[in-house]
Amino acid sequence: MKKNLLFTAVLAASFFMLQAQTPDSLKRKYILDSISGVGPQATEYYFPEPPIVTPGASPGMPPSDAIVLFDGKNLDEWADDRDTTQAAKWIVADGIFTVNKKVSDIRTKRRFTDFQLHIEYRIPVDITGSGQARGNSGIFLAGLPNGAGGYELQVLDNYNNKTYVNGQVGSFYKQSVPLANACRKPGEWQTFDIIWTAPRFNDHGILQSLARGTVLHNGVLLQNNTYLLGNTPYIGQPQYRVHGPSPIKLQSHGDKSEPISFRNIWLREL
Ligand code: MG
Repeated sequence: MKKNLLFTAVLAASFFMLQAQTPDSLKRKYILDSISGVGPQATEYYFPEPPIVTPGASPGMPPSDAIVLFDGKNLDEWADDRDTTQAAKWIVADGIFTVNKKVSDIRTKRRFTDFQLHIEYRIPVDITGSGQARGNSGIFLAGLPNGAGGYELQVLDNYNNKTYVNGQVGSFYKQSVPLANACRKPGEWQTFDIIWTAPRFNDHGILQSLARGTVLHNGVLLQNNTYLLGNTPYIGQPQYRVHGPSPIKLQSHGDKSEPISFRNIWLREL
């Protein structure tokens, strides 16, 4: 009984002491506890605190620290990929934008390294074509000037449309087969949520760590921290070339199928 009373008293005293302590005194206390290796506090940390981020008003909407890359109004965050002094010439209407197959890819004016990206797209309800020639576009997580142009996450209509599996929607093109086919029907909006970790190179240009990507398509996991062996060429093997922060690029694919549309694009730098 006495033991219980003593324990309760010690607990209460500790609680009031904790309440009265400033962050600095907490810091000293926890450093001392860590050194002595005693008590539960030795393994409990209160700093640095994670930043407060206010989530979007509804799932899929940008949180408070997001960089909004398209909010339905204009393509001011984007430029023509071939001539970056030129505005992006894809077609904005009714809060969405549509690929303009007569012009080139578009790319963000800003450059990024590691990020969380949300992007929504819609295959037209009257889409035609088959295989790779059916709603083909792509999200290049780092758009690069050489060869195939970076690391492409494939966008394609694979709702009842087969192609080589390492080139279907949600593949890192010709490198990694997605874990599922989670396509919605043409005409319905679809989401991609992507976590991208860029490759790292040292001062001598030697690769230090591979690029990695995690991808959810319509909430379904397609790529689980997948390592990339390099860029994603149409022909040939992947390879790395040295690069730093890079734009994100959206593909204007040359096939004859009807152009797809995008909306609600935002990103959080990591
Ligand atoms: Mg593509």
